[in-house]
Amino acid sequence: MSIIKVAEIDFRYKDVWALRDVSFDVRRGEFLGIIGPNGSGKTTLIRVIDGILAPERGDISVKGNNIRGMRRRDLARLVAVVPQDSAMIFPFMALEIVMMGRSPHLGMLRFEGNRDFEIAREAMEMTDTISLADRSIDKLSGGERQRVLIARALAQEPEVVLLDESTAFLDIKHQAAFFGLMKALNREKGLTVLAATHDINLAAAYCDRIMLLKNGRIHSLGAPGEVITEANIREVYETDVLVDANPLNGLPRITLMASKGKGVCSL
Ligand code: ADP
Ligand code: MG
Repeated sequence: MSIIKVAEIDFRYKDVWALRDVSFDVRRGEFLGIIGPNGSGKTTLIRVIDGILAPERGDISVKGNNIRGMRRRDLARLVAVVPQDSAMIFPFMALEIVMMGRSPHLGMLRFEGNRDFEIAREAMEMTDTISLADRSIDKLSGGERQRVLIARALAQEPEVVLLDESTAFLDIKHQAAFFGLMKALNREKGLTVLAATHDINLAAAYCDRIMLLKNGRIHSLGAPGEVITEANIREVYETDVLVDANPLNGLPRITLMASKGKGVCSL
């Protein structure tokens, strides 16, 4: 059964079309990767699914309900987002930020109970952020801040989590821990994960399916082996890569080819 249905979405920022005719379903418990070059529409797609941006055309439903008619609070109990750009957040303490994840669940009086603190603490344990609890978010490194925002999303106890390049600032230990955690929550608790990422190899290793975006349109969508091919990557990223089988799991793995002539420095 599909938990998210995206139907014929067009979205534009003034005169820039950022999404064109985007339709797909996400199955409950699926781990879906979203890849594509800078400016291909990944962040816009995530913000449209989270109801922050309203599409020009098309509909999105979560668990059969069109998000257009949903209250923010009701949507937030189902869907949590880890945003790409977290530098703008007010300078609250990390624990306060994580507790914000509980707000869609609080009762009329909006008091947090012991259970809310317990859930926040567990989320901080899972993301290795307990030691940051009383630090101000604006004084954390990019990776630390990202982990606090991941904790906030987990504290929200959503059924779907939307990740926007959530490993971009993480060191390899926390990258592996993060994808491992997401996969564990996905397998054990049926959490549905949509992850926009630049790391094609991580996406291949963890995702059930991958969507490749090009100029706001779905170029291809399918199993990692179907989407991550030399031809697709060359066509969409205009870059030559070698795709072979990862010796650990047989999944596709890309290697950048050494550039001929014009080096990266000349870009
Ligand atoms: P990605 O996350 O894949 O890098 P985005 O969704 O951020 O791509 O951007 C898609 C397109 O929309 C790009 O052409 C980008 O320049 C444009 N865009 C993004 N945000 C804005 C904005 N706030 N105003 C105008 N254009 C924007
Ligand atoms: Mg983006």
